[in-house]
Amino acid sequence: MKIKKRYRILIVILSLVVLFAAAGVVVYHGEWWYPIGQRLRAYPAPALTPTEPQGSTTLWKFADLTAQENVTLSNNLLLVNSEHPLPEGYTPDLVEYNGAKMHPLMQEPYISLRDDVQAATGVRIYVASDYRTADEQAAILADSAEGIAAEIGCSEHEAGLALDVYAPYFGGKNFLRSRAGRMVNEICGDYGYIIRYPVGKEDITGIDYEPWHIRYVGAPHAAVMMDSGLTLEEYIELLQPNAWYRTGDYLISRRAADALDLPDGWTSCDISPDNTGYYIVTLKMN
Ligand SMILES: [Zn+2]
Repeated sequence: MKIKKRYRILIVILSLVVLFAAAGVVVYHGEWWYPIGQRLRAYPAPALTPTEPQGSTTLWKFADLTAQENVTLSNNLLLVNSEHPLPEGYTPDLVEYNGAKMHPLMQEPYISLRDDVQAATGVRIYVASDYRTADEQAAILADSAEGIAAEIGCSEHEAGLALDVYAPYFGGKNFLRSRAGRMVNEICGDYGYIIRYPVGKEDITGIDYEPWHIRYVGAPHAAVMMDSGLTLEEYIELLQPNAWYRTGDYLISRRAADALDLPDGWTSCDISPDNTGYYIVTLKMN
């Protein structure tokens, strides 16, 4: 049977409408396609060059080093997971910003990240969850399915080092529906934050994909991890004890507390326990 020309045109138009509508639905659902892109992404090797520092060195006593000006004793690189609970007696250093409690070093980078995302997308992000006490973590754990919330004492929220962020109307996995949410996932490494529970790394982190949970680890570590697709577990494992690594203006070394022989000439130094028995020393050399 011959279809009349006008019906053929109608069928073509209707097909196009359905096709565009379907494409629109898929594009809208960033929480569908963004993780697929993340899984398929080919990451370069981490930008860490093993190096032998040149020139003079000083063997520091831990207390003398941490008493120096331009030295921060942080918990930036503290590994917190089910195998590495928070150290006994850990008390987080906290400031409160807009009602959200976080480590003091996180505040300025968070404000910069939020403002830059807003400038680019017109959407402001907010904090849904910040520091949690052990009791608050216990309440969340009781309400969550397995693999969603960390055990008590094993949450970065208890460490005061993590924030759960959202865009208005787009929280949780739907954060990825918003351009602001995807942008946070793309650029947080430049602000000292990592997506701590990436897609495809659930077997390493022990936690399901959480594109909304940002963890502060500081510069330059966050950029190295995000650019090379490494989790904090993999990054710490990569740093061989007592070896030195260069990335940009920074020298990094994972050392025991009594092996702090540091090259001279640094302008700032951060020292953070990694919760595996070592400290990670980050020297800015310029
Ligand atoms: Zn979280």
